[in-house]
Amino acid sequence: MDQRTRERLPVLPTLVQTAADELKKAQARLAAVRAAAPGTSFTVLGETYTKVKGTRYTDHAASATAYDANGRRYCLGPAEQRAFWAWASVEFLRHTGVRIEEMLEASHHSITQYRLPTTGEVVPLLQIAPSKTDEERLLLVSPELADVLSAMVCRVRDVSGAIPLVRSYDPSERAWNAPLPLLFQWRWGGQNRPVSVSTIRKGLDETLLASGLTDSTGRPLRYQPHDFRRIFVTDAIMSGLPPHIAQVICGHKTISTTMNYKAVYPTEAIEAHRAFIARRRALRPSEEYRTPTSEEWDAFLAHFEKRKLSVGTCARAFGTACVHEHACIRCSMLRPEPEQRSRLVEIRDNLIARIAEAEREGWLGEVDGLHVSLAGAQDKLVQLDAEAARRSTAISLGMPTFGQIKDRTVHGQDPGCSG
Ligand code: SF4
Repeated sequence: MDQRTRERLPVLPTLVQTAADELKKAQARLAAVRAAAPGTSFTVLGETYTKVKGTRYTDHAASATAYDANGRRYCLGPAEQRAFWAWASVEFLRHTGVRIEEMLEASHHSITQYRLPTTGEVVPLLQIAPSKTDEERLLLVSPELADVLSAMVCRVRDVSGAIPLVRSYDPSERAWNAPLPLLFQWRWGGQNRPVSVSTIRKGLDETLLASGLTDSTGRPLRYQPHDFRRIFVTDAIMSGLPPHIAQVICGHKTISTTMNYKAVYPTEAIEAHRAFIARRRALRPSEEYRTPTSEEWDAFLAHFEKRKLSVGTCARAFGTACVHEHACIRCSMLRPEPEQRSRLVEIRDNLIARIAEAEREGWLGEVDGLHVSLAGAQDKLVQLDAEAARRSTAISLGMPTFGQIKDRTVHGQDPGCSG
């Protein structure tokens, strides 16, 4: 689901623009066929049609029928209806993020208003009837959504200016709803009917086909009405809307449902990591990020020269001083060298002799310190022996050599290919 959203969110503006363009084209074709006399040819948008000679229908939508230059029959009235409802659905769904059944149940009564108690300003609201969660909710109507609602109201009004009452069937409840001034209704077969889900899907598919959008496999991109809900949540939260407000707008019972709708983008993780690095760098002095001077470079190289010790190498970091008072034999930073093993043995034996002498002479103050040094020397010898044992058990793989190349041309193979 996240991948569906990531694939469809970036191309949503293309779909929106295509829906608007297709509606304008369908309206231009319908206006041209209505203006043409029966049986005559007319040209619109570079396409030539011939209007049918006569019709037994009285409905203006059914009479807007014409043939193209190839003799293919087009019902330009229903085509314009589908283009309009496809455009209205795309706009309605992307601005509200509602479920499709909630959209199709929106009526003229759903459009309401609220006066802000502080400023007295009137804000338009859209009431979403209870559906999945049995809770109604109110959405703020943006100026863009207000334009869409206005176009729908103007379209479905009858000659008296009222919106006809139509009954719709609720497939979830398996019951007919009471007659309502539904916004998603059209006149078909001489009667006003609710726009069906299949009509919305068909119009959406026609718009997608016209847009030429494809998915990652190169096939035509498909949008389900619920994709707009996921896109709405993802876009809103990425634009800064707090998730708990998005939860209220979407009518989810828990915030985890809302967060499941939000597609996490790898770019979000990348941007957050880059911001973290920038913050961390800002805490460090900027001088640390400049090109080193010649003196600093010399000091850096000198550091490695000064790490050389009699029994091995000092592994302390550049720029750090020796904090162990050069008691290297006790220090964990000392990396003993195998060639200096005899020297380490000599030091160990000397320490043993000094401990014996100190104990014999009663210099007990030195005994503890000498024991620490002796433990360090023995530890370094153990390190060297372990390293030598590890090296002796290593398996030599040898150096790869070129084998003799045989002539295989008799088998139809390239003689330069050894398989
Ligand atoms: S005491 Fe440790 S840190 Fe100091 S020089 Fe010797 S090995 Fe390096």
